[in-house]
Amino acid sequence: VGNAWNYRCSCAYENPGNEKAENFHSITKAALSGGVTSILAMPNTNPATDEEILASLMKKVAAETCLNIFFSSTISDKRLGISLANLKKAARLGARAFTDDGSWVHSKEIMEQALRLSAKLNLPILSHCQLETGNAPINLGEVSRKLNLKGQSKELEYRAAERDIKIAIETGGFLHIQHISCAETISLVKKVSCERITAETCPHYFTFTEKNLLKGDSNFKMNPPLRTEEDRQAIMSALKKGHIQIICTDHAPHLKKEKALGLENSPFGVIGLETLLSASIDQLYHKYKMDPALILEKMTSNPAKLLRIKNKGKLMTGFDADIAIVDPNKEWIVKSFYSLWRFFYNKHKLSKYKRFKEIA
Ligand SMILES: [Zn+2]
Repeated sequence: VGNAWNYRCSCAYENPGNEKAENFHSITKAALSGGVTSILAMPNTNPATDEEILASLMKKVAAETCLNIFFSSTISDKRLGISLANLKKAARLGARAFTDDGSWVHSKEIMEQALRLSAKLNLPILSHCQLETGNAPINLGEVSRKLNLKGQSKELEYRAAERDIKIAIETGGFLHIQHISCAETISLVKKVSCERITAETCPHYFTFTEKNLLKGDSNFKMNPPLRTEEDRQAIMSALKKGHIQIICTDHAPHLKKEKALGLENSPFGVIGLETLLSASIDQLYHKYKMDPALILEKMTSNPAKLLRIKNKGKLMTGFDADIAIVDPNKEWIVKSFYSLWRFFYNKHKLSKYKRFKEIA
């Protein structure tokens, strides 16, 4: 099997501003070790990646890494949600998409302006759909009650998606719903799914459920949170039926000491670059019996299409030869933080897939 793992890498890889959790060197190794040759970096960096620093970041990438790193730029100025960023300038500089990832754009006006511009610029608006976290570390349900923790309702996700879809229809803009975690959001995108309105999910949402949090392991704390078995099944079905077109990582490196703070106090998100492909093959191909070609297009040609990257994502004449060779039957086990060295190049080696075989 050979193909280019052209997909989205979401979240804070914290360059510039904070290079402790990840830098271009570590993210390159992490990506390549997982068979990933292209990534889309999110702007939730410190300072936020916008038209002001895009050019210098692109220069730095060209000098420091062989990985294809594409950039998204903010929707709102400095990701503060107060006024619209300069999308036109960012597009001119090479931004492939716009998002305030990590936060939802609360202002209806800003979202309207952004979606209108997206049609003119022919670039997508990516939306992290979540009204708020309500300071709740995990899903609202059986497990949050058992652990006596505040829970995050699914409504916080699907209400946000509902509003953005409505605006996208009204404005004719390009909307892409990020990291869907629940069946209700799928019911919404199912009705409107088209070239202009697309969606994604991540391997953790079709591999795990809130039950993986029962022992309080913060490596399963992500945003939006892991949901229920019904949601997991709905996500796999939506992938199969084409209502979700992209699988991405939502790769979010944090310091080990930060993740050790427990469910309530640790930050949301963990790494996913190294396991994106393996987890997808394991879960969707081996267990769910999905057509491998369908799985692959969600990490290769579909993201390239979304980001208007014309020469990547397919093995064809005229396309870049970004190739990963994979044995889909070769088994490897993510054992623990400390035995990951050979496979995990992320600086802090915290993975939700540790001891995955035992958990599964
Ligand atoms: Zn996000």
